[in-house]
Amino acid sequence: QSLEFMKELGFKVIDGYRSYTDIEKAVERINSIGEGRGELSYDIDGAVIKVDDFKDREVLGATAKVPKWAVAFKYPPEEKETVLNEIEINVGRTGALTPVAVFDPITLAGTTVSRATLHNQDIISDLDVRLGDTIIVRKAGEIIPEVVRVKTHAEKSQPYHIPMTCPACGTAAVKDEDEAVIRCPNIDCPAQLLRNIIHFASRNAMNIEGLGDAIVELLVEKGYVRTVADLYALTMADAMTLPGFKEKSAGNLISAIENSKKNELDRLIYALGIKGIGQRSAKLLCQKFPTMEKVMSAEKEEIVEIENFGDVLADSVYNAVREPHRIELIRRLREYGLNMSYTVKETGKKLEGLKFVLTGTLPAMTRDEAKTLIENNGGKCIGSVSSKTNYVLAGEDAGSKLIKAQQMGIAIISEEELLNMLEN
Ligand SMILES: [Zn+2]
Repeated sequence: QSLEFMKELGFKVIDGYRSYTDIEKAVERINSIGEGRGELSYDIDGAVIKVDDFKDREVLGATAKVPKWAVAFKYPPEEKETVLNEIEINVGRTGALTPVAVFDPITLAGTTVSRATLHNQDIISDLDVRLGDTIIVRKAGEIIPEVVRVKTHAEKSQPYHIPMTCPACGTAAVKDEDEAVIRCPNIDCPAQLLRNIIHFASRNAMNIEGLGDAIVELLVEKGYVRTVADLYALTMADAMTLPGFKEKSAGNLISAIENSKKNELDRLIYALGIKGIGQRSAKLLCQKFPTMEKVMSAEKEEIVEIENFGDVLADSVYNAVREPHRIELIRRLREYGLNMSYTVKETGKKLEGLKFVLTGTLPAMTRDEAKTLIENNGGKCIGSVSSKTNYVLAGEDAGSKLIKAQQMGIAIISEEELLNMLEN
């Protein structure tokens, strides 16, 4: 009834809704929608049975979270068959060598995919996936493609073993103890240096605008940059040789690099890519040790006292700032005039103990600015809406997080309301 009414009002209503008087027919219909979902021009992950009489709906009522007159049925993730052409080895920032399956392109949940991570040798061995095999791929959680199983082995195929050398530098790989991961141990490995520079320049690290993956790759290729310190020696003339770069764009790049020298120490610490150090832990580290000297001379026992720092992370920091190549890197960065201190902001307590979720585009602040503002006032920002969320800060084009918050009855506030909370 409501669908018919909405149609009359001019809303777009999907075809294919039906009403049935017995449940067998409804189940049959769900199965047939499931079988035909590949032919639909949109993606669905399930179907819903609803009681269509409004009076009955009232009688059935609702719990605090969901109505009792509707039931959702989820279809299992869509699976497709394809041929494995290649297993590529990716070199990560910390040298981890990760096998990636490269297969004939297929369409899954609306997008074309041709690659899926195979994680490590253990997974490859468990699947017994071999080059040329016909494999079954699906999207886990409708997002990340994964190889589910092998359908048939290729003729004369052999079990696959990850080569024990780094594809970028040829160094013999090492296996971490207690970890399935293998690594390239070479600190001069060009693939690792490249990934490190990309990470260093990224938005959450030194936030150097205009220095994306492709530009970094070019700078490395041309031999201008080998380590992150070399970025600060880059000249206008160097930048002008990049394809498509004119005086203005080259100038913008150089000044973006120059501006990054003023960043707070926590960004630099995060940008250095110390194993286990994320944005939040970098900040906590700087709150206790507000200069680079203090970070570098901190004892393990002092580091481990920081909230949420365990022995492993404390060890990682302690060792990282004692590695000769990193000491040399920090020395050069200091020489180029990078800020090596953290000016601890007087943090307010107005939002202490409150958890916020950010969604959508805010009118005046960027998401990062809003996050900093909340954290500087004692609040916490978390990634997803749950019963522990106190407020959802929503801007324009807010998505599923807003809908979830509405369903769960969580307070939704605007940027203006957040600012009011801080003033009062
Ligand atoms: Zn290597």
